[in-house]
Amino acid sequence: MDLNTTSIGPNFIRNIIEQDLESGKHAMVVTRFPPEPNGYLHIGHAKSICLNFGLAAHFGGRCHLRFDDTNPVKEEQEYIDAIKTDLAWLGFDWGEYEYYASGYFETLYQYAERLVEQGQAYVCDLNGEQIRAYRGTLTEPGVESPFRNRSVEENLDLLRRMRAGEFSDGSRVLRAKIDMSAANLNLRDPVLYRILHAHHHRTGDRWCIYPMYDFAHGQSDSIEGVTHSICTLEFEDHRPLYDWFCQTLDIFHPQQIEFARLNLNYTVMSKRRLLELVNEGHVCGWDDPRMPTLSGMRRRGFPPAAIRAFCERIGVGKSDSIIDMSVLEDCVREELDQSAPRAMGVLRPLKVIITNFPADAEEEFVAPSHPKNPGMGNRRIPFSRELFIDQDDFMEDPPKKFFRLGPGREVRLRYGYIIRCDKVIKDPASGEVVELHCSYDPETGGGNLPEGRPKVKGIIHWVSAAHAVSAEVRLYDRLFLSANPTGDKQTDYRTQLNPQSLDRLTNCLIEPELANAQPGQAFQFERLGYFCTDREENRGQALLFNRVVTLRDTWAKLQENATATK
Ligand code: ATP
Ligand code: MG
Repeated sequence: MDLNTTSIGPNFIRNIIEQDLESGKHAMVVTRFPPEPNGYLHIGHAKSICLNFGLAAHFGGRCHLRFDDTNPVKEEQEYIDAIKTDLAWLGFDWGEYEYYASGYFETLYQYAERLVEQGQAYVCDLNGEQIRAYRGTLTEPGVESPFRNRSVEENLDLLRRMRAGEFSDGSRVLRAKIDMSAANLNLRDPVLYRILHAHHHRTGDRWCIYPMYDFAHGQSDSIEGVTHSICTLEFEDHRPLYDWFCQTLDIFHPQQIEFARLNLNYTVMSKRRLLELVNEGHVCGWDDPRMPTLSGMRRRGFPPAAIRAFCERIGVGKSDSIIDMSVLEDCVREELDQSAPRAMGVLRPLKVIITNFPADAEEEFVAPSHPKNPGMGNRRIPFSRELFIDQDDFMEDPPKKFFRLGPGREVRLRYGYIIRCDKVIKDPASGEVVELHCSYDPETGGGNLPEGRPKVKGIIHWVSAAHAVSAEVRLYDRLFLSANPTGDKQTDYRTQLNPQSLDRLTNCLIEPELANAQPGQAFQFERLGYFCTDREENRGQALLFNRVVTLRDTWAKLQENATATK
């Protein structure tokens, strides 16, 4: 695949950049994707990635990958590696433009000294609780710190001794001297540096003071010459502070533009909560196929092109909204409909004996691997006396509209013969149907229908018992029962977890050609949905498939039925 060719459709940010280029404000567009390496990327990040890389591609500019690694306590190399893997998988290439906020620690520190020298920052000995109390509220102005009027010399001396490690964690901070009665709370002397004797995954033990995110993020953009610093709406109130830093320090001034973050229903997206789901064992890792993470979606079998199409489809706006999960699943269906070869798989097998077919004989039908793409070739489908069909395709006492198999009824085997159910064999103890005795019509092979023969409405999928390959299939449902699991502040979102979000079917049978499937390869099991071989757990011949999505939006249908029967 060509990297970074995924451009972006019209949106308000693209318009702003267009005007900036026309007016000559910038000659070249530089954007960045700035993850904090404290978790894995999720589908919300994909929106930001597609936007930042897409804009850069559209305008022939470049997009940086910058890790905002200012919090040594929560950040790890594992997350950095995972973020890079996910970005590349999604189809984006940052080339040589890989940066780290920690790479600017010295510059940021020099900026801090400059502010002190200009009389615009001071060392404050209030503790965290006091600073909060002194800050005031939206309706009341804040109170100035008693340390606010220290001399430049004293501040510089204290800041240098903070850096030198003379003071304990939390005993002092460096604050900007702005305005304790500003209407915007972010301007009430925000903290710039804190003391933290912690090992950083990149700078080791070189530092025992660390810049706050707000003091690092905007300046990192500035250092990199980012022209358009695109972020989510909650940073709108921080913009005046970033602007103040750039003006006061007299450094390059990126333009910040905010957009509405992506919210999806039936899931959670904050990294803190995703980390809880992983650590508390509600899912089996960041790449659990039920997770909204990119690694989870990859493992589930979502094609990266579907995620890019989704990000384009939902657009970029200024007002928060919740996108329906079905929009994402539709994008996955559309992509897989084109790319996934067809196959037959039986999830809950029911044995069928074709009583008028010899036990030692076998036949083979040929079927296209894809109905609309002959280039994908054909597959061979063996037929023999013993078959398996899905339990769902038989009913002992079927209603009129059930066009599958029932006693005395006919059905067509996909690509094969028409069969009639002559006898139903039950387990004498449980009464459960264990086997069907059927007869086939030899004139109807390969979809053939002799003239004058009554038509058969139903077509079902099947496999030949002697040829089929066993597989485990995992069916996934929504991870949460409620559309907005964090919506009600009174209830813990974990109580909303769907106990039936994973269904493991261990006795499945699939057509023999799939025995050679590669890890991560997706197929359409005809009539059932899209399934992808697991990337992690498939070893040797033990085939494990994840259901990617159903063929249609069965969830909407289930909900309808549930409300109808209430
Ligand atoms: P947290 O979940 O802890 O709030 P975060 O999701 O903001 O963290 P970052 O690593 O700071 O995580 O995000 C990197 C970039 O991705 C930021 O520019 C952020 O604006 C963007 N981003 C994060 N979540 C979303 C989302 N749901 N929709 C769009 N962009 C997002
Ligand atoms: Mg963030």
